[in-house]
This record gives sequence, structure tokens and C-alpha cells, in this order.
Amino acid sequence: MLRFKSLGSGSTGNATLIEAGGPPAFRLLVDCGLGLRQLSLRLAQAGLTEGDIDAIFITHEHSDHIGCARQLARRHGIPVWMSHGTYTALDSPDFEGWLRTAQDGVAIDLGGLQLTPFTVPHDAREPLQLTCTDGAAKLGIMTDLGHATAHVLAHLQQCDALLLESNHDSDLLAASSYPSFLKRRVSGQLGHLSNDAAAQIAQAVHHTGLKHLVAAHLSQQNNRPDLVQHLLSQALGCSRADIVVADASSGTPWLAL
Ligand SMILES: [Zn+2]
Ligand SMILES: [Zn+2]
Repeated sequence: MLRFKSLGSGSTGNATLIEAGGPPAFRLLVDCGLGLRQLSLRLAQAGLTEGDIDAIFITHEHSDHIGCARQLARRHGIPVWMSHGTYTALDSPDFEGWLRTAQDGVAIDLGGLQLTPFTVPHDAREPLQLTCTDGAAKLGIMTDLGHATAHVLAHLQQCDALLLESNHDSDLLAASSYPSFLKRRVSGQLGHLSNDAAAQIAQAVHHTGLKHLVAAHLSQQNNRPDLVQHLLSQALGCSRADIVVADASSGTPWLAL
């Protein structure tokens, strides 16, 4: 069985747990954008400890994704996957032998879980998002991208669940107190997905087997969960309650595939 749980999502920190097979289950942490204390606390709420993590995948170098990855990996001897560009953008820190290099389109076999990283357009050195499968179900993780490319859409076909960025409402962002350079950055081709852009992607990859759509990386100032649920449910033709919104501090419940 494959199941996943966001431990929190947004500009204050992103981390998603993916659990496959078992017992004993294999657990991957996608992004580690929290302090060690906060991560431990949220793992404990899920009934887990730091030592229960078997592998870490870092999507890109922004602080809301890298967080305590290095400390966690070194303390518990956990392999950390990231692109070479992400590693160099971090100034090539010492992972004490636990660093592994991920590449666009090159599958990573972790035993009970296979990952396929893919390039996304975002203002980081070499950002990768990913899909993962236990051989039966497929989960897509996609936050932090400015727009959908054909490459992104091709990778997201036939997902049983999708965690998808729905960062901002374009009108709320335009009217916000953000300085204009920041508005341009967020809404630009290498920034973050608007609710409308997320809805278009959801529609493009929708199929009858899609069990869960989780909206993630919501802006706390320029978005509201009800706006996201309205647009995404319209895109999929489902009820608003079917759209799970990942909370910045509590994430989501476990979602099984
Ligand atoms: Zn981010
Ligand atoms: Zn980012």
C-alpha cells in the first residue's frame, strides 16, 4: 500500500511523508523545510520519529524546502537525493557520504518505492519535482513551478493522487501590499502557480483513477482555502470537500492509495 501525508506546506516550510509497503514500511520524506525540532514534533504527531525516515528527496534549494535536511541526514545516516544544481546552489555542504544525485527523467529505485524526478520551471538552480510508485499506485508531487510545461504534464499523467501547488489568487496578489518586484516574481513564468493555473493542470491530468487532489503551497496572504477548493472542484467536476488543502502547520491527514 502507498500512502502519504503532508507535514506542512507553504512558504514557512514544506515536508511530505510517503510510506510504501511493509511492515516494515519504507518512508520517504520529500522536502525537509522545517527546523529539526518542528519536524520531530510533526513526525511525533504522525506516530513517527526521525529515525523512521529511510530516504530524503529535496526538490530545490529554497529554505522552505531544504530546512534541516543536512542535520537530519547526518544525525541518522539517511541518504539525501537532490540535483547537482541544487547541491551547488547550497554551496556544496558536507553530507558525510549521504548525498545522492537525482537527475531529470532518471528513475531512482529505493526498493519498495520508485521515484521519477522531472525538471520544472522555477527560479532555482536545477529544481526537480517527482512522481513515485510502489508498482501499483502512482503519486505526483508538484509544488514550486511558474507554469506547466509539456514535460511536466507528461510526467503527471495517470496519477492516483496528486499534491499540486495552488499558490495564489491572481487578484489578491495584484491587490496585495507585496512590492511590485515580488508580485512579478511570484506570478512570473519561474515563480508559483496561481489557482487558475493549478485548475488548468488539474483538468489536463484528470482521469477516472485520480483518487486524491491535494492543494499545496498556498500563500497565507494572497489566497484562501475556499477559493482553491471552489476552482479545483470545478476543474475536476467533484465536490469542494473532495479537494484536500494542505495546511501550513498541520499539513494533511494520511491519504491512502
Ligand atoms: Zn517553496
Ligand atoms: Zn521555491
